[in-house]
Amino acid sequence: MSIGTAGTPVYAADTEFGPSNPFYAESTLPFHAPPFDKIKDTDYQPAIEAGMAHQREEINQIANDPAAPTFENTIVAMEKTGRLFERAMLAFGCVTGANLNPTLQKVQEIEAPKLAAHNDAIFLDAKLFQRVKTIYDKRGSLKLDAESLRLVDWYYKKFVHSGANLSEADKAQLKKLNEEESTLTQGFTTKLLAATKDAALVTTDKAALAGLTDAQIAAAAEAAKTRKTEGYIVPLQNTTQQPDLSLLKERASRQTLFENSWNRAEKSGANDTRETVSRLAELRTQKAKLLGFPNYASWKLEDQMAKNPAAAIKFMDSLVPGTTAAARSEARDIQALIDQQKGGFQLQPWDWEFYAEQVRKAKYDLDESQIKPYFELSNVLENGVFYAANQMYGITFKERKDIPVWQEDVRVFEVTDSNGKPLALWYGDYFKRDNKNGGAWMDSLVTQSKLFSALPVVINVCNFAKPAAGQPALLNFRDVTTMFHEFGHALHGMFADTVYPTLSGTAVARDFVEFPSQFNENWATYPAVFHHYAKHYQTGEPMPAELMQKIKKSLKFNQGYAFTEVVAAAQLDMQWHTLPPGTPKQNPDEFEKQALDKTNLALSYVPPRYRSSYFAHIWGGGYSAGYYAYLWAEMLDHDAFQWFDEHGGLTRANGDRVRKMVLSRGNTEDLGKMYDAWRGAKPSVEPMMKFRGLTPESGN
Ligand SMILES: [Zn+2]
Repeated sequence: MSIGTAGTPVYAADTEFGPSNPFYAESTLPFHAPPFDKIKDTDYQPAIEAGMAHQREEINQIANDPAAPTFENTIVAMEKTGRLFERAMLAFGCVTGANLNPTLQKVQEIEAPKLAAHNDAIFLDAKLFQRVKTIYDKRGSLKLDAESLRLVDWYYKKFVHSGANLSEADKAQLKKLNEEESTLTQGFTTKLLAATKDAALVTTDKAALAGLTDAQIAAAAEAAKTRKTEGYIVPLQNTTQQPDLSLLKERASRQTLFENSWNRAEKSGANDTRETVSRLAELRTQKAKLLGFPNYASWKLEDQMAKNPAAAIKFMDSLVPGTTAAARSEARDIQALIDQQKGGFQLQPWDWEFYAEQVRKAKYDLDESQIKPYFELSNVLENGVFYAANQMYGITFKERKDIPVWQEDVRVFEVTDSNGKPLALWYGDYFKRDNKNGGAWMDSLVTQSKLFSALPVVINVCNFAKPAAGQPALLNFRDVTTMFHEFGHALHGMFADTVYPTLSGTAVARDFVEFPSQFNENWATYPAVFHHYAKHYQTGEPMPAELMQKIKKSLKFNQGYAFTEVVAAAQLDMQWHTLPPGTPKQNPDEFEKQALDKTNLALSYVPPRYRSSYFAHIWGGGYSAGYYAYLWAEMLDHDAFQWFDEHGGLTRANGDRVRKMVLSRGNTEDLGKMYDAWRGAKPSVEPMMKFRGLTPESGN
C-alpha cells in the first residue's frame, strides 16, 4: 500500500470513490442510520469495491506486521477492518432484498464473484492464518476474557473450516472443488427455475379448473397471455404440494398438477437436475475427505448447536413415530370422507389438500373474513408486537418521521430501554411489492458492537397485501404470527450487547438463529397480549372468545401431514450429506426411496416437502445438511416457552432473565451451554410435539 504525505493511507481503487459518495464517511444521522435520501443507486458499486480494496489492504497490513502476533494486533485488528465495506454492504443488502431495480441487479451480478473471491483471499491467506494459529495455540496463557477467547476460537475455526490448515496442494484441490461446487449450484438454480416454469399446469379447458375462484381463473388466463399460450396456466410453487390442490374439484386436474410438481426437474431434458444432484453429493464427499471429516455433514455441523449429524439424526428420529402416527390418523379421516362421498378411490398425495380443506371447514368452521377486521396492521404492531416487548422487557417505541427510508411505506421507530437510554432503531417494511424478495426477514443496517460504540439498527421486511388508498391493512392470523416472528429476530439484534461485531446479535448458528423468532411467536396467542390487540378496527370490540378458540384449535389441524413432510425433507437432506467418501454417484430417485424407507418416512400419501431433484435449500442454497435446523429451533422455541409457563409466563423478571442470559449475548458462548444454563436443563422435544398436537394425550 502507499502512504499519503500526512500519513493517511491512500487507496488505489478510489478512482470513482470520494467524499461525495454518501458511504465515504460514517453516517451522521441518529444511530448512524444510512442516509437513504442521499444514496443513489450508482453509489453502491464504487463504495463496495473501494470497501473491498480498503479491507484487503488493512488485512495485508495485519498479515505482514513485523511485530509478533498478539490478540490486539491480529484478532482485534481484523475486527476493525472493512468498516466502509460493511457500511455499503448492509445498505446494499437491504435495498436489493426489499426494493430491487435493474441497476442494482446489475451491480449484484457483477459483484457476486468478486465478493466470494474477497472472502477466500482473507480466509485462505497463509500468513494471516499463521498469526491466528500462534495466538490460538497459546490462548490459555493470554489472560483473555471469555468473549475475547470465544473470538479467538471463532477466527481459528473459521480459517480451519475454510481449509487454511491444508497443504498447498490440498488447498489447490479444495479451491477447484469449491469452484466446481459453485458452478453446479448456480447451474442447479438456473435449471430448477426454468424447469419449474415449464412444469406449470396448462389447459384450454376452463372446466378443468373448477373450484378456483374467479380471480384465480382470471389470473391463470392472464398468465397464459403473458406466456403467449392459449387457455390457462397455473404456475408451480416451490414446494411439492401446490396451494391450488386444496381447491381443484377435478381429480384429474389435481393429479396432473401434482405430477407436474413432483416430476418438474426429472424430464430428461436440459433442465433435468438429477445429474447435477448426483455430482454435487459425490463432490461433497470428496470435500469432506480433503478436510478430514467422515462426511460432509460432519464438516458442516461443526459450529452448529447440534455439533454433529448423529445428534441431528437422533433428534429427527425421535419425531418420526409421533408425526407419522398423526399423519396416518389424518389419512383415515380423509379416506372416510372420500368413501362417504362415494369417491371409490384410495387417497393419493394429490387428494390430500382437497379433502383436508373440507375436514378443516367442517371441524373448525373458520372464515378468514370474520377474523381479519380484528387484525389491523398498525394496531397489531403497536398494541400486540410492541406491547408484548414492553411487558416482557420494559422497552418503549416512538415513531420517527425524520429518518430517511428506502421506500415511502417504511416506518421507523426509536427503541428506548427500560432505563431510559437509547437502545436501537427499528424499521418496518410490511407491504408486498413486485421488486421485493418473497417471504419475510430481519436484517441489520448497523451491527451492534461496543468496539465501535455502535447501537443496532435493524429492519423487518414482510409481504402483506397493501390495501387500496384509505383502506385499513387487515391481516390474517398467519401474517400476525409472521410479525411476531420477525420481531423476535429484531429483538435478538436489538438486545445485542457484545464487544465484537463478529459475535453480535443474530450472528449465531443456523440451528439457533430461528429460536428467538419462533419463541416470540408464542406471544401472539398469549391471552394477555392477544386481548390487548385483537380488537375490531371499526368498533374497538375485542374478538369474541369463541372466534379466538377456533383460531387456536385450527392451529393444530393437519399437523401430522405438515410435520411429516418437513421431517421427511430434513432426513433426506441428512441422508444425502452423511454419505461416506468413496461412495459412487447415486441415482437420486433410488437413493430417495431408500432414504425414506430407512428413516420410516415412506408414506405414499405424504411425500417430502421437497424432492431431491428440486430441493433448492440443499443444492442451490445455504442449507445443505442444515434443513433440520428449522425443526431444531422449533424444539427450542416450545421448550423455552414451557419454562415461561412454569415460571409465571410473561413477566418483566422472566423477560430480563432471558435477555441477560441469551438474547443479549449473540455468539459469545457455546450456544448449547448458553441455552442449558438459561433453561436449567437440556432442551426436550416433548413441548413441541404437544404444541403440534402430535402426542397421544393431546388427542389429535
Ligand atoms: Zn425466522
